[in-house]
Amino acid sequence: MSHKPIYVTRPYLPPLEEFIPYLEQIWENKLLTNNGPFHRQLEAALCEYLGVEHLSLFANGTIALVTALQTLRITGEVITTPYSFVATAHSLVWNNIKPVFVDIDPNTCNIDPDKIEQAITPQTTAIMPVHCYGNPCAVERIQQIADIYGLKVIYDAAHAFGVRYKEESLIRHGDLSVLSFHATKVFNTFEGGAIVCPDAKTKQRIDFLKNFGFADEVTVVAPGINGKMSEINAAFGLLQLKHINSALSQRKEIEANYRQALAGVRGIHMLVKPAETQGNASYFPIFIGPEYLLSRDTLYQHLRENNIYARRYFYPLISDFPMYRGLASAQRDNLSVATENASKVLCLPIYPDLDMSLCNHISRLIATK
Ligand SMILES: *Cc1c(COP(=O)(O)O)cnc(C)c1O
Repeated sequence: MSHKPIYVTRPYLPPLEEFIPYLEQIWENKLLTNNGPFHRQLEAALCEYLGVEHLSLFANGTIALVTALQTLRITGEVITTPYSFVATAHSLVWNNIKPVFVDIDPNTCNIDPDKIEQAITPQTTAIMPVHCYGNPCAVERIQQIADIYGLKVIYDAAHAFGVRYKEESLIRHGDLSVLSFHATKVFNTFEGGAIVCPDAKTKQRIDFLKNFGFADEVTVVAPGINGKMSEINAAFGLLQLKHINSALSQRKEIEANYRQALAGVRGIHMLVKPAETQGNASYFPIFIGPEYLLSRDTLYQHLRENNIYARRYFYPLISDFPMYRGLASAQRDNLSVATENASKVLCLPIYPDLDMSLCNHISRLIATK
């Protein structure tokens, strides 16, 4: 049907002419970075849109994760999930922290709260869960455990832009939440990210850390990094934000379409929509069971032959990569649910301007096999 490759995601780009005035303003005032006017505007606009008090923009989500851990001076061991993008665990290693992998809940693909306590040791200082596919973690349970054991909670909320849970922003949970605005994400600034924090004092520490540790012209308070977002990226974010509501509703239509078309297809399973949640339809994972005619990888190949580039998010598990697989917590028998889901999952194309007829075509390719 289509000869152009269809990828699992495609960045949402507003009409180019809408971006020109922003560029003209940058050329005019010659402020390119270092907390410029667009940077400040985007921080304020995102706080308002997301319903949070404080947010600090970053050059990307990974540097934001690394900095979030430094903000709270996390050391020792951190409990996390193997079912995520590698940057989650890499951010720990960049801080000389040992990741401790805990298995996931089969119904959400998020860290299983019932398995967290048994992974806590005297070295544990924090939990770093991921709201996988934008579906909320068991935030109340996780906070309860953190309170009992005196642990910090840092959410990798890279998938969770705009998700609401129980009538409020999901990223209000935990001590910090980290967003990614990478080109492949729901809201993008080409590259970018942010840390969401609850108070001005923490925001100030984050802002020092992302600017080499400078507190003022002559004072350096920590060995900070250069994590600043440039004015071009911030300007693009402001423009993108004007279109975010329509982009989200288009995503939700695609999601609804897949759900309907694939319901009842033997051997194809979908996650149940989480309760009390307004999601962001950031991903559309399906799980290929043994009753399906093809294996997951054969279906993946079959779709590729039809120019549909579905992705196996998250396979391989982070814990299977060479720098992690030697850890005791990385062993398969500790992570049986994650291992199984990783072997079954396939994320289908979903992005705002994905043609509905193409979406139907993809569902048919799967359903008629
Ligand atoms: C995208 C992503 C990141 C990394 O974000 P970048 O902005 O690409 O550095 C981290 N964690 C998860 C779960 C992600 O999906």
